[in-house]
Amino acid sequence: MPQATPYDAIVIGTSQGDRFLPIALAKAGKKVALIERGHIGGVCVNVGCTPTKTMVASARVAYLARRGADYGVHTGPISVDLPAVRTRKQGIVEGARLGYESRLTVAQGLNLDLLRGEAHFLAPKTLEVALQGGETREITAPLIVIDTGDRPEPLAIQGVESVSVLNSTTIMELDTLPEHLLILGGGYIGLEFGQMFRRFGSQVTIIQRRPRLLMREDEDVSDEVTKILREDGITVLTETTPQQVEPQSGGYMQLTVRTPQGEQQLTGSHLLAASGRVPNTEALTPQAAGIQLDQEGYIQVNEQLETNVPGIYALGDVKGGPAFTHVSYDDFRILRTNLLEHGNASTRDRLVPYTIFIDPQLGRVGMTENEAKKQGRKIRVAKLPMTAVPRALETGETRGFMKAIVDAETQQILGCAILSIEGGEIMTIIQVAMMGKLPYTALKEGIFTHPTLAEGLNTLFMTLDS
Ligand SMILES: Cc1cc2nc3c(=O)[nH]c(=O)nc-3n(C[C@H](O)[C@H](O)[C@H](O)COP(=O)(O)OP(=O)(O)OC[C@H]3O[C@@H](n4cnc5c(N)ncnc54)[C@H](O)[C@@H]3O)c2cc1C
Repeated sequence: MPQATPYDAIVIGTSQGDRFLPIALAKAGKKVALIERGHIGGVCVNVGCTPTKTMVASARVAYLARRGADYGVHTGPISVDLPAVRTRKQGIVEGARLGYESRLTVAQGLNLDLLRGEAHFLAPKTLEVALQGGETREITAPLIVIDTGDRPEPLAIQGVESVSVLNSTTIMELDTLPEHLLILGGGYIGLEFGQMFRRFGSQVTIIQRRPRLLMREDEDVSDEVTKILREDGITVLTETTPQQVEPQSGGYMQLTVRTPQGEQQLTGSHLLAASGRVPNTEALTPQAAGIQLDQEGYIQVNEQLETNVPGIYALGDVKGGPAFTHVSYDDFRILRTNLLEHGNASTRDRLVPYTIFIDPQLGRVGMTENEAKKQGRKIRVAKLPMTAVPRALETGETRGFMKAIVDAETQQILGCAILSIEGGEIMTIIQVAMMGKLPYTALKEGIFTHPTLAEGLNTLFMTLDS
């Protein structure tokens, strides 16, 4: 039996959080092994945030081109060249991946070994790596960081093996535009792809099991999002459960769904499964190290991101909870602070914002109205339609609204939902006010440039006192 190669630290996965951690550990003088079985950079760079937002940008140009006449600008017939959209996306993805690879190359001159292959635990501090060349290598370290992420959940309905099912990765590689795209799932991935392909020119139907889209949001927010998507020509079916799918002639498929009105048949050319994700923990065999998982297979960690096995940590999506790149990055900051700077950082009370990149964007941070009410807080709710914001009128982008939840006693902002053009950026202004624990009056009375979208925050918070 060959002896395991000793390292000071092993990091599994090369995601956004791990973009910095192995390099920081190596710079601190530790001998580090970094293991990656797929593309360098993880989901965000290769098949998540970067490619989707690049394609969303193409879709928005198509949308604006069609709306040219609204602005007094006349164009010819609008058509979308999907291979060209994909080539643009690929260029941006490759640029981002190369940037990361080059930083790793520099780090490999330090103390870092990049092992291309799949890792699995043999014992608490020992892993076997099945290298891409066919060899295996055993490695060991007192410090192990798991950042293996998650992947699309395979669709499990009757007949699924008889048709071709797209997921969030494969849909971005299509050469031809779907004639009718059926999307299973009313979360952010389903909505972003739904609006994108509608704007590219497909007929789109979104099928959501639950009573409304974006179930985590307040009813008024998800109702407004649904209204906007329907205005864009997307069919949204709620309380609708897929039952069975079967192939039809001519490359079509028939999806049988159960609706509150009874069974219905939908005919589509393509089917996108966007109903969930599963953690990458099977191949890793964390059980061999005695690492506790939850019922869905996510790794359980404490507020310092340590598993039940001392010295083994998990960050990013694989530990469950909000699955965003900025969370993975913040997890890295916690580990760097605690492991390298002798600090005591934790996930407790951290404010996690997010933006759904439909158009208009939905920027969200803090509590929803429903959550605040459930906690029994005394709240005040400020709401302003975008038709009341001069910048939105001038740019012809008046869909959506701004909404903020304020604590009636402290006057501090508890959360907001900004459904607006550049909603993610406006939400971030409110997030900064929340970080500084400012009362809402600071935004009500602050001087903001006219005419910006941010200026709408004056008016939003004025509604509380008018
Ligand atoms: C379509 C889509 C759009 C998204 N858009 C956004 C967005 O706009 N904003 C946002 O914040 N987030 C977005 N996300 C989520 C974001 O991509 C993830 O939250 C983020 O990538 C999580 O990073 P991570 O640290 O969990 O690791 P990941 O990025 O998941 O990387 C894990 C890495 O580990 C490797 N790995 C797994 N198992 C092993 C093993 N046994 N051995 C070796 N290597 C292994 C994998 O190959 C992978 O490279 C999106 C996701 C998707 C799918």
